Amino acid sequence: MSACDHPGLIPIDIALADLLAKTPLSTEIESVPVADAVGRVIAEAPQAAVDVPPADNSSMDGYALNIADLNDEGETALSISQRIPAGQAPQPLQAGSCARIFTGAEIPEGADAVVMQEQTRIEGEKVIFPAGVKAQQNIRPRGQDIQQGSVVIKAGTRLQPADLGVLASTGLAEIRVYKPLRVAVLSTGDELIEPGEPLAPGQIYNSNRFLLAGLLRQMGMEVVDLGRVADTAEDTERALRDAADSADVILSTGGVSVGEEDHVKGVVEKLGQLDLWRIKIKPGKPLAYGQVLGKPFFGLPGNPASSLITFCLLARPCLFRQQGAALPAPLEFELPAGFTRTRAIGRQEYMRARYENGVVQPFSNQSSGMLSSASWANGLAVIPPDTTVAEGDLVGFIPLSELLG
Ligand code: AMP
Ligand code: MG
Repeated sequence: MSACDHPGLIPIDIALADLLAKTPLSTEIESVPVADAVGRVIAEAPQAAVDVPPADNSSMDGYALNIADLNDEGETALSISQRIPAGQAPQPLQAGSCARIFTGAEIPEGADAVVMQEQTRIEGEKVIFPAGVKAQQNIRPRGQDIQQGSVVIKAGTRLQPADLGVLASTGLAEIRVYKPLRVAVLSTGDELIEPGEPLAPGQIYNSNRFLLAGLLRQMGMEVVDLGRVADTAEDTERALRDAADSADVILSTGGVSVGEEDHVKGVVEKLGQLDLWRIKIKPGKPLAYGQVLGKPFFGLPGNPASSLITFCLLARPCLFRQQGAALPAPLEFELPAGFTRTRAIGRQEYMRARYENGVVQPFSNQSSGMLSSASWANGLAVIPPDTTVAEGDLVGFIPLSELLG
């Protein structure tokens, strides 16, 4: 059953699965220097051109030798036949000798172990080795990290700094990634004015615009900021046409209730197609989803905390999917509640909360108009429908870091 046919409120998992299934995939690909690729999504998986490490090398400062040259019992004295610093190609090991070697230096042909210098002592011209040296000890074998020809990092990966290091270790200078998704952001509401302007009676400052632009930029997406949209059909249509022209996907906030000042629904239906979803979550029950002139459209609730929650839980995974990223579900931990909630509600609640001193503590006021709750929080406490919480109960907790960036 698709989410739209669901009787009553739609459970969030069903809503998300349905939204993901409707999400189109990015096709625009470009090459970028690996150095600039953090946060980008791999479109074509690169194969390793070399083994990493490219040769057997020493993990210690010490001496390379062949254990066949050591006595079975007791110490062995060997003379030093060469010195191999990192970055220099070694000569084959002379039989019956050892090579002075440093961390990262290549193991000479004929050596099969490295003894760390702390386990040796010098007597005259000779190095004295203990018994019990094992074959391959302190040697990092060629290809241990990555094998030549293997897929280094899978397509669909969002590149983290460690990934850039891994790609660089294979000698790759450029990587094929998806072009950043262009996301249009519209803030509907006659009451909205921009920070920096004086506040007249009846007005509030537009906070969603900054919230969404920040969320999107952290995700590595390009924001097409269409600013405030007046509560008229004309302005809404002009802005939505603009958005569909200039972006791959459209986000708006507000204006999707059933009041006569809410024009988004009618205009989206005129330009494309729209479903009004009632999701079984708090905050963020209303969500409009559809398409405008062929571009996916998300109508997020106007209340800033609801906007944030619906964005993070529903829009964000779809935007990453559209961007080509295979995003894992956010990690959710079971942690002890530092609070009691005696009233059960019929929806799954996402409380702005902090995990601190071993317990989860929700913000004192969970009103969807209060964005300071999210600013204070370091995660969301997840309270399933029809559930009460006693202090010390385990509750789901999603760190905000799982939902941002
Ligand atoms: P609406 O869905 O348009 O009825 O908006 C619901 C509530 O969210 C109202 O109190 C609006 O004033 C508020 N709101 C809508 N958009 C914004 C915005 N961009 N910034 C701050 N508050 C907003
Ligand atoms: Mg409004």
